[in-house]
Amino acid sequence: MTPPVSGTRSAGSSAGEPPTGRCVLAVDVGATTMKGAVFGEDGGVRHSVVVPSRADGDPVGALRELCRRLHAEAVAGGAAPAGIGVVTPGIVDEAAGLVRYASNIRFRDVPLRALVHDDLGLPVVIGHDARAAGVAEAVAGAGRGLANFLLLPLGTGIAATVVLDGQPVPGTAWSAGEVGHMPVYPGGEPCTCGQRGCLEVYASAGGLARRYARLGGDPGLDSRAIAAAAATDPLAGEVWDTATQALGIALATLTLTLDPARIVLGGGLAEAGAQLFDPVRDALRAALAWRTAPEVVPSAFGAQAARVGAAILARRAAGLAVPDGWAAPVPASVGS
Ligand SMILES: [Zn+2]
Repeated sequence: MTPPVSGTRSAGSSAGEPPTGRCVLAVDVGATTMKGAVFGEDGGVRHSVVVPSRADGDPVGALRELCRRLHAEAVAGGAAPAGIGVVTPGIVDEAAGLVRYASNIRFRDVPLRALVHDDLGLPVVIGHDARAAGVAEAVAGAGRGLANFLLLPLGTGIAATVVLDGQPVPGTAWSAGEVGHMPVYPGGEPCTCGQRGCLEVYASAGGLARRYARLGGDPGLDSRAIAAAAATDPLAGEVWDTATQALGIALATLTLTLDPARIVLGGGLAEAGAQLFDPVRDALRAALAWRTAPEVVPSAFGAQAARVGAAILARRAAGLAVPDGWAAPVPASVGS
């Protein structure tokens, strides 16, 4: 089977025919790149654009330019944009349409909704990337059909999105889900946040690489390489085991607090598959003495989740229905 090319999908349109009809625009702003896409009425990606984030220059200008470009390319392709969703990391006040603070992309008090609306004259929704990923998993991914679940992308850092009644919980100050700084080993190794023993120190992709180097391993190895070396390099094995153990402890705390129906793991680390999921499930079960553990499963959308979530938010902002399963990932192989 040929896996689908990332970012393209042609379900619902016959080959050679230009796509027509309503579409929505979606942009996921990351630390290094901004990923934009035009989503057709059926949830298929008609067109996608990836540009550098330019955090050292004019990041807001670069983002506005990307939004204008996506709009122009959608129109040129024969589609009528009905709305746009833009999601970013950091502290995002979704009600006010403001990005209050995002250190990685150098945004501070950016009135993004007003700026993009001025440029395009469309309904605009501004969201948080991890919460938007939760929306995507809830509507069409690993949390589909569940009233409540947790999504933890394991990337440079670790955040959690708590989905309750199908909606991500934003928190009082738009800061819910910072579980990367949950202490898992009190008094443990120092974290960049100033605390000790944080989950992120042991179990984020960045933390794994830093820890491996600090304990005497090759500083050039990233988390993927450490995972690959775990069976043959005792230090890599130990660092990997500590990561899965720390995750099990953290997931036990989250399970006891929230009683989720399912825990979804995403981000680069989840690509390790059974090497991650088997020991994490074991550690979670071992940490819970009196209750059963929720199932722990991989994200359905992976790195595309936030952008799909932005598209779903855009449809809602435009007053368009979002059918259950809209924009569901195309299976990589034939299955049920
Ligand atoms: Zn910390």
